[in-house]
Amino acid sequence: MITLHGKGVSAGIAVGPLKFLEREEYAVEKKAVTDTAGEVQRFYDARQKAGAQLDAMALSMAEKLGKGNAQLFEIHRMMLEDSDYCDPVVKIIETEKVCAEYAVQAAGSRLALDFAEMDDDYMKERSADVLDVSRRVIAILSGTQRDLGSAGEAVILAAEDFAPSETAQFDRTMVLALVSQKGAANSHTAIFARTMGIPAVIGLGATLSPGLAGKIAALDGETGELHIDPEDAVIEKLETRREALLKKREALELLRGMPTVTKTGRRIKLYANIGSVDDVEAVRNGDAEGIGLFRSEFLYLGRQDYPPEDIQYESYRKVAEEMGGKEVIIRTLDIGADKQADYFELPPEENPALGLRAIRICLTRPHLFKTQLRAIYRASAHGSVSIMFPMISSLEELKRARRCAAEVREELAAEHIPFNEKTPVGIMIETPAAAIISDLLAREADFFSLGTNDLTQYTLAVDRQNEGISEFCDPRHEAVLRLIRMTVENGHRAGIWVGICGSLGADPELTETFVRVGLDELSVEPSGILELRRRIALS
Ligand code: PEP
Ligand code: MG
Repeated sequence: MITLHGKGVSAGIAVGPLKFLEREEYAVEKKAVTDTAGEVQRFYDARQKAGAQLDAMALSMAEKLGKGNAQLFEIHRMMLEDSDYCDPVVKIIETEKVCAEYAVQAAGSRLALDFAEMDDDYMKERSADVLDVSRRVIAILSGTQRDLGSAGEAVILAAEDFAPSETAQFDRTMVLALVSQKGAANSHTAIFARTMGIPAVIGLGATLSPGLAGKIAALDGETGELHIDPEDAVIEKLETRREALLKKREALELLRGMPTVTKTGRRIKLYANIGSVDDVEAVRNGDAEGIGLFRSEFLYLGRQDYPPEDIQYESYRKVAEEMGGKEVIIRTLDIGADKQADYFELPPEENPALGLRAIRICLTRPHLFKTQLRAIYRASAHGSVSIMFPMISSLEELKRARRCAAEVREELAAEHIPFNEKTPVGIMIETPAAAIISDLLAREADFFSLGTNDLTQYTLAVDRQNEGISEFCDPRHEAVLRLIRMTVENGHRAGIWVGICGSLGADPELTETFVRVGLDELSVEPSGILELRRRIALS
């Protein structure tokens, strides 16, 4: 047994096989075959296996996250059976006398292109699905297990680091835990893991080498220990820890459904952060009173092209409806810096965290911004939706963003499309500039939510992604706390509520300070809600 030490960023115990994330696309060779009938049969066999995998995934997804989330697998299943998909594969094998892998890739790419060129947004979307289905079939044909779900076995997933676009694509039912060589505590990998309640250990360094793939590992997401080939005694110890964690959770269950109230009887809004519709289940399980931050950019990641208005609308509407009238704060696009999607074609930058990101992209690409705003406003007719702009650093930016929102409202009204005219529009306070001028911004905003992850990064001039300088990244720094206090005071003076949606909101050492300072809302990862309710009650 060997034990690696990293940073535990998402609590929980996991035991399972270690699998390294594969990033390379398949290099499919164009191999000539003589037995074309045999090759066609290989394709049919692989298609059948792929169908069985998709059925299993649909079932497990439906059980865990509801039927709606299983739909994607059902669509993939239908594609596999469709003659528009299968006939060209068979034809290529027979006429070109080539291997099934190549035929699937060639036919799949052509069909994907046809979909991409269609006018209808829904059909355009199917292009990525065709490619996904083809990858699954090729993986089976070539015996390479690319897909996390394809072995039907859940794994501890390892990588040098995980990009937000990758975390957006995981088959969550198949990931027991995340472990990475790199990564900082407030990286999006850590945030994603906490949101999903998946245990995670990051910063394990080069000792987490791909040579360990396939070995059984056991980890503790709190202590940051990762044991390879764990001895029985270690597994037993972890089982005891797991039971202790379960007991702690059981005790917290007594707070489920209770209001969040401080020792002096002040009500605090205890909300949750999410990255996708799929997280709503975790929000309900966590007993959050609303959603304080919907990181909408995850809808844009892991895709080949911009998500059309209707696709976005469906997601926002679903979240609003599933939250049953509880407040849902949708943050507009916060792409850029570590959250990259190729199709944005962002220019290479020396300092991406200081570059073209978030509201700056939206204001320079108003069409993109307005498409998202239209989708959010349309969803506002189906629940209690609020809009929140990220990375604001000047009053002018806020005014420009509000003008875009006003134009969208006018357009929708002219088109007789229903929306809530009173949709609150707030901003994130995550630049020191915004905190310092929060008295001015408060006149133009309905609420403030402090993004302490970025506020720390920009106040202390420490890159939040760089684990090499993590000792200098102290979100409890007095400078950050002063900016928080200043923002709360300015917000309250203008009569608006102020919350925190950055990771600092869940810091148990600071709950009392936050209550004393007068914060009105805390929005944290869903798995931390009940624990925070307990702490607030003691503060
Ligand atoms: C933050 O910066 O604190 C925040 C909540 O936004 P993100 O972590 O997505 O940058
Ligand atoms: Mg931020």
